[in-house]
Amino acid sequence: MTAEQLPGAPRIAWRGDDLCMENLRLADLAHAYGTPLFVYSKASMLDALGAYQRGFAGRKLQICYAMKANSSLGVLQVFAQAGCGFDIVSGGELERVLAAGGEPKKVIFSGVGKTRAEMKQALQAGIGCFNVESEAELEVLSAVAVGLGAVAPVSIRVNPDVDPKTHPYISTGLKGNKFGVAQERTLDAYRRAASLPGLKVVGIDCHIGSQITEDSPYLDAMDRILDLVTAIEAAGIPIHHIDFGGGLGINYNGDTPPQADALWMQLFAKLDSRGFGNRHFMIEPGRSLVGNAGVCLTEVLYLKPGELKNFCIIDAAMNDLPRPAMYQAFHAIVQLATSTAAPSTYDVVGPICESGDWIGRDRELAVQQGDLLAVLSAGAYCMSMSSNYNTRGRAAEVLVDGTTAHVIRERESAADQMRGEKLIG
Ligand SMILES: *Cc1c(COP(=O)(O)O)cnc(C)c1O
Repeated sequence: MTAEQLPGAPRIAWRGDDLCMENLRLADLAHAYGTPLFVYSKASMLDALGAYQRGFAGRKLQICYAMKANSSLGVLQVFAQAGCGFDIVSGGELERVLAAGGEPKKVIFSGVGKTRAEMKQALQAGIGCFNVESEAELEVLSAVAVGLGAVAPVSIRVNPDVDPKTHPYISTGLKGNKFGVAQERTLDAYRRAASLPGLKVVGIDCHIGSQITEDSPYLDAMDRILDLVTAIEAAGIPIHHIDFGGGLGINYNGDTPPQADALWMQLFAKLDSRGFGNRHFMIEPGRSLVGNAGVCLTEVLYLKPGELKNFCIIDAAMNDLPRPAMYQAFHAIVQLATSTAAPSTYDVVGPICESGDWIGRDRELAVQQGDLLAVLSAGAYCMSMSSNYNTRGRAAEVLVDGTTAHVIRERESAADQMRGEKLIG
């Protein structure tokens, strides 16, 4: 099998007839832990992190893993141990960071709808920065901080109005999006932040979208951010750090996003030429740190040939892998072992009672009932977006480290799902 048939699976390779992640056979993991099963490569995550670290060699950088991409504790622990901070979007995510051993000082809090309770929780934990997304939020955050006798470190998220050229649901830096403060309002918003008693301005941030596969949106956004930093500092408000968000794409289907180190080499050419190269930087990568590190293993339950379509019904579904249903996203699907079955074209679908429950369309597979498949590039926005629809328990998760398989999440039982529910008496 060629690399083309395994897009974006850096630590997955064939050894003879067996598809392996690091030093373990994926079929062995499926047999030992059951399916559907998410399997992640620790080395692949650290490789992805390393590309950013190379890009920032000799610079001042704090990487804050955007944990909504995959917030399982075992995954957070890998990044915490590697020195990462975390970009959170809820109070629940903050609790996960603390449970995984992350440092509150390295936490930044993004999101357009932080509640007062979440602000209080984050101030009490002593997080590093609030990435404020509206002028109204500045007022509320200041009031909450004053009420606690605290001062909230803030950065204002700017909407730089650049087109990231990605799926509309995951573009965030365009004028029509709900995120951030418009460029024209930014200076006034900083003046207001600097005047409020409960706030201390520490930075500026932006995040223009997700699954970005070109460098031009980043270069454009950086120019706009630097123009704003110049204007804000000219108004007497120092900007300590520049947080450039996340959004770098991965290879799902032969996509060729820039490598993190190559992208930052270009960005630093701009930063250096404009005199900003020595600033403190933060970045918030999510998908690019975990997406290609994970696969979802699944079993073929039934083959259902039809007049118009052949269906390959698997035991993973849209509740496990929501991206195809949500964004018409593509995940490569490969077999874990070579098969003698006749090849045919299938729509690969799950057991859920929705026509939107498909994982791949028009896929050429040589499979029979009981065969095992791997859905690739399933490390990001799969488990963290999974649901219990149809009262399906969440899949188990395994983290592979060389020859060791760590179970980082047990398969969820029906009893787990019903916990907290009550009959009416
Ligand atoms: C989702 C998100 C990220 C991470 O995006 P990726 O595309 O996964 O890198 C970073 N910052 C903010 C504010 C986000 O909402």
